[in-house]
Amino acid sequence: MLHIAIIGSGPAGYYSAEAAQKKWGDDVRIDIFDRLPVPYGLIRTGVAPDHQSIKGVSRRFEKTSLGNNARFVGNVTVGEDITITELAGLYDAIVLATGAPHDRPLDLPGSDLGNIFGSAELVGWYNGHPQFTALAPDLTGRHAVIIGMGNVALDVARILSKTEAEFAGSDIVGHALDRLRESRIETITVLGRRGPHQIAMTPKELGELASLERAEPHVDPADFPPEEADADLDPGVRKSVGLLRSFATRAEAERGTKPVRIEFDMFASPVALHGDGRVREVEVAETRLVDGRPEPTGKLYRLPADLVVSCIGYRTAPIPEVPYDERQGRFANDEGRIRPGLYCVGWARRGPTGTIGTNRPDGFDVVDRIAADIGSGSDKEGRAGFDRMAEERGLDIVTFRDWKRIEEAEEAAAREGSPREKFVDIEAMIRAGR
Ligand code: NAP
Repeated sequence: MLHIAIIGSGPAGYYSAEAAQKKWGDDVRIDIFDRLPVPYGLIRTGVAPDHQSIKGVSRRFEKTSLGNNARFVGNVTVGEDITITELAGLYDAIVLATGAPHDRPLDLPGSDLGNIFGSAELVGWYNGHPQFTALAPDLTGRHAVIIGMGNVALDVARILSKTEAEFAGSDIVGHALDRLRESRIETITVLGRRGPHQIAMTPKELGELASLERAEPHVDPADFPPEEADADLDPGVRKSVGLLRSFATRAEAERGTKPVRIEFDMFASPVALHGDGRVREVEVAETRLVDGRPEPTGKLYRLPADLVVSCIGYRTAPIPEVPYDERQGRFANDEGRIRPGLYCVGWARRGPTGTIGTNRPDGFDVVDRIAADIGSGSDKEGRAGFDRMAEERGLDIVTFRDWKRIEEAEEAAAREGSPREKFVDIEAMIRAGR
């Protein structure tokens, strides 16, 4: 029998479990740990609440958990409740699928002022991550600035612009909806330090900005290179650039017809934040591209900013005893292998890039590496040993059956038209599971 511990129950964790089930069938036992009492990681607390079809992948993960060779073990923090060395004594292989839950720091003068948030915090807040329940962003100012031009920046811009009616069918949590209802934001400036050809936003997501009820995207036509240059782009980027061009021409025709303006400010790199305890302005350096990199032109200007959200990427959280690559912000690994017996997948392996589906091949890959290193296992105790240790330590483990009760209670508490109202604190989750 082969015993595998997967740490993290997001897409990277579940796709790895699925791959291990496919490879070893009844000859494997997989424990999928999570520090939260609820499964699915980024699917639950990262994917935008108005993107329910993407969240539907959790139904596939549920099948994995219901198989008799894999189980969910919630409310256990590896590195605190149990060490990597202890796990290595019990399981043949440990797979770290812990994602990248920390914001890359903005690290600019003034970035400690009030009402400045990283996207992990703000997205966690509107998605009901217990860690960010108390965030309370003030949305009553007129100007918001979002830093970064990736899909997370798009998610944040869209969520800040939607009307209450547009959240129908989403599972945005009540505390976020209440604040958004009070929002007085009129301008959302999305700052990109490079130009339209370097945009990291994908076409489907960018296209959603065109049909918002009360917000319209604006792009300065002067930011584009000649249209012929688009021909050399990858097809996906070309599509995104085409959409940006359509926003630029549409903006001319429809200027001011909707009350919220989503302003793309390209070739614009933030250099400082100013305020009086809380942020009031973002100081921006105009850039030009030199060998693809943004270089300041020397021109500086200031944008009004009552709220700032930095969407510039994420870092994996270090775990004691696991080598960490500080520069890359993820575990130090060679194509998923940290050392024989210890592996990483998903964002913890490759950094915060790619979609949910990118994790599927990652899962198969790590399972092949385990097979090459470990073969068919040893005489380690696996879950029986863990259960004994958990009992000795009084760990309050949440099982998949408990999770189904939590899920039922969340569904029962849903607003009309919403799939669920999430519990936003750990104690309430655990109580509902009992
Ligand atoms: P991302 O795609 O890497 O975008 C990060 C953005 O931040 C880039 O525009 C980058 O500019 C900018 N940036 C980085 N450091 C900066 C700095 N110091 N100052 C100013 N700008 C800075 O990351 P993400 O948006 O966090 O998304 C993470 C991954 O999740 C991506 O693969 C994304 O596609 C995926 N995702 C997908 C969806 C979806 O499919 N619906 C939704 C959300 C996220 P440069 O390009 O100049 O570095």
